[in-house]
Amino acid sequence: MSAPTVGMIGAGQLAQMSLAPAIALGINLKILAADESDSAAKIAKVEIGDYRDLDVLRNFAKKCDFLTFEHELVPNGHLRALESEGFVIRPSSTSLLVAQDKAHMRKVFTENQIPCPKWQVINSADAIPAFPAILKSITGGYDGRGVQLVKDQLSARKVIAEWGKALYEEVVPFDRELAILIARSPHNQVATWAVSETIQRDGICIETITPAPNLSEEVANLAQQIASDIANVIKLVGVMAVELFQVGDKLIVNEIALRPHNSGHWSIEGSVTSQFEQHLRAVLDLPLGETKMTAKWAVMANILGTENSDLYRPYLHLFARDPELKIHIYGKEVRPGRKVGHATVVGDDLAELRSRVAHAIDYISGVVDE
Ligand code: ADP
Repeated sequence: MSAPTVGMIGAGQLAQMSLAPAIALGINLKILAADESDSAAKIAKVEIGDYRDLDVLRNFAKKCDFLTFEHELVPNGHLRALESEGFVIRPSSTSLLVAQDKAHMRKVFTENQIPCPKWQVINSADAIPAFPAILKSITGGYDGRGVQLVKDQLSARKVIAEWGKALYEEVVPFDRELAILIARSPHNQVATWAVSETIQRDGICIETITPAPNLSEEVANLAQQIASDIANVIKLVGVMAVELFQVGDKLIVNEIALRPHNSGHWSIEGSVTSQFEQHLRAVLDLPLGETKMTAKWAVMANILGTENSDLYRPYLHLFARDPELKIHIYGKEVRPGRKVGHATVVGDDLAELRSRVAHAIDYISGVVDE
């Protein structure tokens, strides 16, 4: 029996980081890149094509045993068409729609008693029940783009004029943000990882700490329960990240991603099985890997682009200073604020780990020079 071919649509850093476990397992990972400058396209042989074109997708799918994604941008109708032609897509178009359409997500969650903020689909600012309010574009938002905190009617009107309609949400007065990763296989094997705390700045995640510090067992169990309820409801196949707001001992779901996710990058070094390997195992319906942590704590920080575009030069100093530091660089053009890589350390002393990662980020960004 020869190893199957998994086709991944999208060639960004998530596809790039999926390559290492695919190589280790001897799985053929075929990647459909939008552009030859995409992260994975720079290091692997990929096909270049437009994921919005059904013929491109079909031709790509013909060469693969399974199709999966590293982003949620493929038109759902195209996926349904391919499924009706017999191609195997994991997660399915029906599952994926929940992550592609935020209004649909809220509806499915509400119908299934998954805790959500108060929400409503609106096409006029007059329909907003209270200010301040959160407005979200129903499709296509990421890294905080497509999320607006509006303080009054006037600013809400401007947003709605631009978007046409929007998802209104109450502003959740959260204590902190958490994320949990879960994987499910077609055989209904489910694996979850420890809950992470995610720390954001300007709508972008800058750091994750796993396990989330001072998280009661009760709330950790609740997070696992919510993630597995969602996985069951949407018939997940693959890895899913669930972003949560913690309010006291309650959890509210912010959003989900049906793929490996930034909040799970810590799992490369911090877990026996990384989210990238697990996603491949789940898509292939193989038994899932152990998800326990390799150390007491894992701290990951994103490397955001600055004026300093040479990301290799800092290696010499950083690796000499901290032999346990792990750096991942995505090979993307460095632009201010763009996620261009991440750094991870694992170990016993949380305060020390956080300061080591923070130093690495500051050194790479040029904030400190020693
Ligand atoms: P994106 O898909 O762009 O990452 P999110 O839905 O995750 O957008 O929202 C980005 C950030 O906006 C969240 O991490 C959170 O800090 C804030 N946010 C989103 N929804 C709410 C809400 N209902 N109440 C309070 N803050 C919110």
